[in-house]
Amino acid sequence: MPNPDNQKLSPLTPRTPFFAPQVKNAPSPPSSHTDPLAALKQIWGHDAFRPLQQQAVDAAMARRDTLVVLPTGGGKSLCYQLPAACGSGLVVVISPLIALMDDQVAAARQLGLRAAALHSHTDDRHRQSIRHDLRQGHVDLLYLSPERLVMSDVLVSLSPRLALLAVDEAHCVSHWGHEFRPEYRQLAPFFDTVPACPRMALTATATPRVQDDVVAMLGLRQPLRLVGHVDRPNLLYRALPRQDQARQVLDVVTRYPGQGGIVYAQTRAEVERLAASLAKAGISCAPYHAGLDPAHRRKTQHDFVHEQLDVVVATIAFGMGIDRPNVRFVVHANTPRSIEHYQQESGRAGRDGLPAECVLLFSGGDLAKHRAMSAHDGPLPPERAQALETQLHDIGLYAVAPICRHRQLTEHFAQPYPSAPAAPPASPAPNSPPAADPCGACDVCLGQVQELPAPQALLTAQKIISAVWRTGGRFGRGYVAKLLLGKADERMTRRGHDQWRVFGILADAGPRAVSAWIDQLLVQGMLCVVVEDLMPLLAMTDAGRDLCRNIGSVRLSVPPPKPTRKRDRSRPDSRTPSDDPTPLAPAQQATFDRLRLLRKLLAAKQSLPPYVIFHDSVLRAMTQDQPASLPALRSIRGIGDRKLQKYGPIFLRALAGEDPHSLANELSPESPPEE
Ligand code: ADP
Ligand code: ZN
Repeated sequence: MPNPDNQKLSPLTPRTPFFAPQVKNAPSPPSSHTDPLAALKQIWGHDAFRPLQQQAVDAAMARRDTLVVLPTGGGKSLCYQLPAACGSGLVVVISPLIALMDDQVAAARQLGLRAAALHSHTDDRHRQSIRHDLRQGHVDLLYLSPERLVMSDVLVSLSPRLALLAVDEAHCVSHWGHEFRPEYRQLAPFFDTVPACPRMALTATATPRVQDDVVAMLGLRQPLRLVGHVDRPNLLYRALPRQDQARQVLDVVTRYPGQGGIVYAQTRAEVERLAASLAKAGISCAPYHAGLDPAHRRKTQHDFVHEQLDVVVATIAFGMGIDRPNVRFVVHANTPRSIEHYQQESGRAGRDGLPAECVLLFSGGDLAKHRAMSAHDGPLPPERAQALETQLHDIGLYAVAPICRHRQLTEHFAQPYPSAPAAPPASPAPNSPPAADPCGACDVCLGQVQELPAPQALLTAQKIISAVWRTGGRFGRGYVAKLLLGKADERMTRRGHDQWRVFGILADAGPRAVSAWIDQLLVQGMLCVVVEDLMPLLAMTDAGRDLCRNIGSVRLSVPPPKPTRKRDRSRPDSRTPSDDPTPLAPAQQATFDRLRLLRKLLAAKQSLPPYVIFHDSVLRAMTQDQPASLPALRSIRGIGDRKLQKYGPIFLRALAGEDPHSLANELSPESPPEE
C-alpha cells in the first residue's frame, strides 16, 4: 500500500526528502510556471505535447468544458495536471479507484506538484491536515473519490480557488461503458453548485454512444470534444486458434522473462489452472478473480504494480486501477466478450509507449460459453440478445479474419485506418487481401497468417460444410474434424461413416487447420452450434447451404505452424515487441537491469510503485546515452527538474557501475546523501 506519508502536504508536515537536501521544503508553489510548454519541459522533462494535450490544457485554462478521449497511454493525466502546475488554482480530479488515486498522488508529488487525495481510506489526522492545507491554498491538485464529493459541500467550500473539475475514467457514468459506477451519475448536481468552474471529462472509451452519455450525464456545457485516434501503434496484435492453452500462454510469457504481463481467462477455474501451470514453470505469477478474498486481491494488485510480481492471471475482475506502464504483454487465453472489452483489456499493455504484445487465443466454443453465461439468470430480452450476438460475431471475426488487426480494431470504432489520408476503399473486394500497407505490428501484416486463395477457400469451405450436412447436424466438431481428416475411431467405423466421400477429404491439411477453419466458418455464419442435451452439435446454416451452391463468399486463413520450443529470433516473422528498433547489447542489458534494480529498491524504500520514479523508457535512454553529468542526464526525455535533483546523482553512480543495493542502503531518509 502506498505510504500515507506520500500524501502529506509539506507546508504543514515538512518531511525530509529521501535523498535531496536541496528540496527539503518541496513541493513548492508552482506559480512560477504560467506557460504550459515551459512547465511541460521543466516539470515533466517532455519536449513537446502529445496530440490534443495542448488543446485540452488551453481549453481548461480558458475555462471551457472539454471531453477528452485519448487511448490508454495517450497522456490524459497531463491534461488536468498541467493547469494545476501552471498556477491556475485548484484542480479537483474525480477518480473511481482509491488504489489508483494514491499512486497518482505519489506520482504527482514525485514531480513536485502539490497533490493530495481525500477518500474513505484517508485517516482523520491526515484528512485534517489536508483540509488545513486546502484552506491555506497549499494544494493545487486534489483527487477525490466520487463518494466523498457527493457526501458534503466540499466543492462549494473550495470554490474560491477552484480552477477545474476533471472526471477521470468518465465512461463509468455510462451504462454503455464497461465499468458503470452508479455514484458517477450523482456528480452533475454537485458540479452545478460551482457553475463557474470548467469541467473536463476524460476517457479512453471511443464509442460515440459512450461519449454522448458522458457529455449528458456530467452536464458538460457545449464542450470542446477532443477525440484522439484509437490506434495504439506500439502494440503488436496476434490472434491464434487455441490448440493447447497452457502451452500457448507459456510460450508468450517465456518470451518476456522478468517482465510484467497479464493473462486473462474466462472462468475462475481456468484462472487457477493457468496460474498453477505458469507457477510450475517457474514464472512469478498469481491468480486474481472475484472468488479470492479482498485482502488477497489487494496484495496481488499491489505486488504487480510494485513490480514484485511479474504475471497476473485474471478474470476481467482485474483491470481498472492497474496503472503499471511497463506491462509488456496481455494474453487472452479465452475470447473476450466484445471488441470493446478486448480493446480495454489489451490496452493495458504498453502504456509507456514502448513495444508490447497482445495475443488472443480464439476458440469458437468461448463464444458459446459467453452466450450461456449471459443467459445464466434467464433468457436475455431480445434486444440485449441481439446486441450480444453482434458483439460475439465481431470479436470472432476479429480473431479469425485475415485482415490487419490494427485496421479491424480502429474501424470498429468508426475511425479510418491508417489515421493519415490515403485510406483504402471502405469495403475491399471479397476474397482479396486488404489493399493497404502492412502495419508491421500484427500477425496478418507480418505474414504469420496466410489467407487461402479465393477458389481454394471456397472449395475447402464446401468440403467442411458438406461433411456437416452429411452428419445431419448430429455430431460435434471433434467428430466432424476426425471425419474430414480421415481418422476413424471405432464409433465411426461401426456407423460406416468411413465409407462416406467426405471421409479423409482434408487429410492433408492437418488437425490444426481443420479446427481453425471450422471456427472461421462458425464466425462467418456458414456453420452454427446447436446445443442438444447439453451437447454442442455442429449444423449447417442457410448461408452455408448457399455457399455450397457457389452463392456468397468466404475467407479462410491457414493457422501459423505450431511454435517450437526453440525460437529462431533472427527470422523476420518471429518479431516480438521486445525486439525494439534499438535492441540493447548484452553489456547494456546488464546496465539496464542494474538501473531497474536500483529503481525497485528506491521505490520499495518509499513504498512507491517503481514507475513513479522513472519509466522504463527513461532507464533505457540512460543505458544507451550513458550520461556522466547532471546536465547530460537532464537532456533525457522524461526527467524534469525535481526528479533530476532527487534521483539524478544516485542514478549517475549506478550508471558508473556502483552496486544498487549498497547505493540504496547508503541512502536512507535519515541520512540524505552529500552531493
Ligand atoms: P493515460 O492516462 O492516457 O493512459 P498517462 O497520463 O498515464 O496516460 O500517460 C501515459 C504516459 O505518457 C506517461 O508515461 C506519461 O509520462 C507519458 N506522456 C504524457 N504526455 C507526454 C508528452 N507530452 N510527451 C512524452 N510523454 C508523455
Ligand atoms: Zn496489420
